[in-house]
Amino acid sequence: MMKRKVDDYSNFVEHPRYGRGPRFTDVRPRDVPLGYRLTSYISGNTISGTAVEADLERQAFSPVPVLYYFDLKRKCTECSRPFIFFAEEQKYWYETLGFVLDADCVRCTECRSRHHGLERQRRRYEELFHRDDRTVDENIAMAECSLVLIESGIFSTRQTECVRMLLNCIPSKRNDTVERRYNDIRQRMLAVEAARSGEQTDA
Ligand SMILES: [Zn+2]
Repeated sequence: MMKRKVDDYSNFVEHPRYGRGPRFTDVRPRDVPLGYRLTSYISGNTISGTAVEADLERQAFSPVPVLYYFDLKRKCTECSRPFIFFAEEQKYWYETLGFVLDADCVRCTECRSRHHGLERQRRRYEELFHRDDRTVDENIAMAECSLVLIESGIFSTRQTECVRMLLNCIPSKRNDTVERRYNDIRQRMLAVEAARSGEQTDA
């Protein structure tokens, strides 16, 4: 039997549920009958010995159903770190969530959860944007949301003009907490603006 190196996956992003390295199973795929595929359409970088049997009754429709899922090595499109798209996760995607069989996982769990966080920020921003009489706290919160979205590249850096406007709405008489948040926002805003003018001079 081939020996497996255990440290091969030490630099892989850890999945909160499945861990870092492959999950080897005792499932040994049988011969593949005509009209079926052994494994998914996205089967590049398959790790052998990790087969999980598919439930064809539950699998999202495909002209050619797949019989097994395998752990797949992936590289995150966002942070470029390697991670595993686990067979169990695929089973969940294609059998419980109803995803099509060629849906691939392109981001590691850390980047995926950051995106969920950003989606929340965007919704909060929108909610505050549509409010007519914002309180001081709400203006500060809206400026913070904007900055997070600017810093993560979802909003244009031009959006700092809106942050500046929001800061101008904060009265000069303010409590310590507001003062601290105000200064933090102002510093980050200036950093974004400095980076932007730097880019413009470079171009
Ligand atoms: Zn990532």
